Amino acid sequence: MMVNQEGLTRVRLADRVVSANQITERREDLRWLFARAKAQDGHGWCLCQPNDPLPLVIRCYHGVFHLAVWPGHGHRHDRDCPFWRQHPQWSGLDAAYTADAFVDTATGTAIRMQTPLTLRIGTPGQVPPSDISIQPGQRRSATTLLGLLHWLWEGRALAGHRPGAPPRRWRDCHATLRDRLRGTSINGQSAEAVVFVVPPFGTDTAEVNAEEFTRFLAGLGGARRGVLLGEIKEVTDTDYGVRLTIAHLRAPLYVSSALFDRVRRSYRAALALTEGRRMTLLVLTRSAKGYPTVVDMAVMGCTRGYVPVDSHPELVMADALASAGREFVKPMRYDAADAVFPDFVLLDTDPASYVEVWGVIGREDYEHRKRHKQGFYRSAGHRLVEWDTRSRLPDLTLPSIRGAASGSS
Ligand SMILES: [Zn+2]
Repeated sequence: MMVNQEGLTRVRLADRVVSANQITERREDLRWLFARAKAQDGHGWCLCQPNDPLPLVIRCYHGVFHLAVWPGHGHRHDRDCPFWRQHPQWSGLDAAYTADAFVDTATGTAIRMQTPLTLRIGTPGQVPPSDISIQPGQRRSATTLLGLLHWLWEGRALAGHRPGAPPRRWRDCHATLRDRLRGTSINGQSAEAVVFVVPPFGTDTAEVNAEEFTRFLAGLGGARRGVLLGEIKEVTDTDYGVRLTIAHLRAPLYVSSALFDRVRRSYRAALALTEGRRMTLLVLTRSAKGYPTVVDMAVMGCTRGYVPVDSHPELVMADALASAGREFVKPMRYDAADAVFPDFVLLDTDPASYVEVWGVIGREDYEHRKRHKQGFYRSAGHRLVEWDTRSRLPDLTLPSIRGAASGSS
């Protein structure tokens, strides 16, 4: 099993070498070792690369120590190492924001989000902050809701596929997302307290989950808002605006027609992905009558296996890559609207190969962008797998000899 293999990664804390598995299982017993490593080196060491020990951040959250990837070092770890992260060039994070939007802290990440979660008296709460315009190329000092959704999803655990891994269920995503939120803050508030990740439905847990949602809602209203993360099942126009049915959630949510018109314009492609999944991150309040009311929302399209995709052709490609047993990640754009990213990155060739799906043909700006991207990838020495959606899918099986197909240098 891949998970076991990852757990075998060895880590050095002060003068002791332990496996990543032991750290997870004996966290409490190893407190003294964490404390010693913190005093002695200030950090731990990952030994996945025999000749290149890599530092690991020691974090302490609610008195519990854990190890985290060193900022910017993730791609230097072995691909089977639990601290491996994709190369920062396949992410919009650095291009989209100043250093203030996502800040590494002693417990996790401090996130600044444009949409306020508490309203001061007299603040007009009607203008969705996602609409604040920004100059092309300008970095934001706070993320939009979509940027936050991309941050939550980024990485192989959710935005990627590994051959042989069991099909990803909402249960798995829920656990990963909750893990991601631990120790994180959003606009100064604990993300665990302020974000409700809709729990997977189970007959044995339905009551507990319903109570949890009721508690979450009870904390909202007046000046206080909350964030909900789930999957849109159904969108229904009603006399009272738009009703959203969320997967695994009994209570429907309501959005004003004015806000949902904007959402339809901003997230047209994602909302159209009914054969995949439409994940949503939304800011909620409670109306005077007690109904959960949406004040801002972002939508992201995914495959049935929860891999993010920007269009239906990308969904077809992601599924075909998974069927062909390829290992890949989807670069997350965040709020970097102008940055150039491949649609997918294949991690099982060396160097990584890029996948481009050319779906919109004949638009001049698109053709220009396509030529620009192709030149950009080739100059960087990456093999490009292309699919013009007017023709059949290309052969996606892994070139048998690793590196032989890179065709460059
Ligand atoms: Zn490592």
